Amino acid sequence: HIPVITVDGPTASGKGTLASEVARRLGYHYLDSGALYRITGLAATRAGLALDVAHEHTIARMAEGLPILFLDGRVILDGQDVTDAIRTEEAGMNASRVSALPAVRTALVALQQGFRKLPGLVADGRDMGTVIFPDAPLKVYLTASAAQRAERRHKQLISKGISATLPALRADLEARDARDSNRSVAPLKPAEDALLLDNSQQTVEESVAQVLQWWEQ
Ligand code: C5P
Repeated sequence: HIPVITVDGPTASGKGTLASEVARRLGYHYLDSGALYRITGLAATRAGLALDVAHEHTIARMAEGLPILFLDGRVILDGQDVTDAIRTEEAGMNASRVSALPAVRTALVALQQGFRKLPGLVADGRDMGTVIFPDAPLKVYLTASAAQRAERRHKQLISKGISATLPALRADLEARDARDSNRSVAPLKPAEDALLLDNSQQTVEESVAQVLQWWEQ
């Protein structure tokens, strides 16, 4: 059976950093499932669609046939490099909107499960352990305080030359978490068999070491 480690948790908890580093150390593949929702949100917005139930099935069809390519860390949508466009706060909020539509989630299941290839996979998102890979032998639920998460996101944006204020970022991520936790399908919550990791007081290296130690056990 092909091994999978899942890393779920709220916005800006550091899932991507942790999961991609664990994948690198183990020589496993890495799935950033949030990127798929971000790309779907972007594709739908560019097609001029409002991101609501009225267009649920149209958006789901788009998600099913997304012309995407992951190339050397870049994301190519329909021949266009959208790596930076899907990383904005607005793209995150739009991803959260399309991800609340059940048909869109269903449309992305097979694509996500297809990332499970030898020698193994580390997958990060909101429902990796609960819905997409329920049989994963190691499920991590990563958290950090809202203040910490807002601060990290702030640093990230500033380093990219994007201006943002801390209170606005915190309000934004709390709104996104509320939507992700309260939606009817695949709400954000730890799987019953998930191990909780609060990285508020940890360095990246410490969190990576913790997950690798769990994996070796
Ligand atoms: O992780 P990231 O911030 O890139 O995810 C963007 C949005 O996509 C999340 O706020 C969430 O609404 C949605 N998402 C999801 N299920 C996943 C990954 C992301 O609903 N597995």
